[in-house]
Amino acid sequence: MNSERPDYDLDYEYDVPADAPTYDCSYCGRPFAREEWRTLHYGLKHPSQLNDEEVQAFRDVYGDEEDDLGTFRLQALAALVAIYFCLLMVYALV
Ligand SMILES: [Zn+2]
Repeated sequence: MNSERPDYDLDYEYDVPADAPTYDCSYCGRPFAREEWRTLHYGLKHPSQLNDEEVQAFRDVYGDEEDDLGTFRLQALAALVAIYFCLLMVYALV
């Protein structure tokens, strides 16, 4: 358990649509919409209960998530720079 992060999901009621496929945590029963999210949950909430295979799966998914986050940051920075120059040109011309 990571003591730096507060447990927002303790005792939380999950309202899952009846026909939605879920991936339930086998330790605490929390439902997830994607298998990757459940794998991340295993690594963050139940790290001491995982076997080697599950730890490796968590590391793989965590690495993918880091890559996606890096891509998002670059896209957000590019969008900010584009907006900045558009507004600069509007200010200079009007
Ligand atoms: Zn769990």
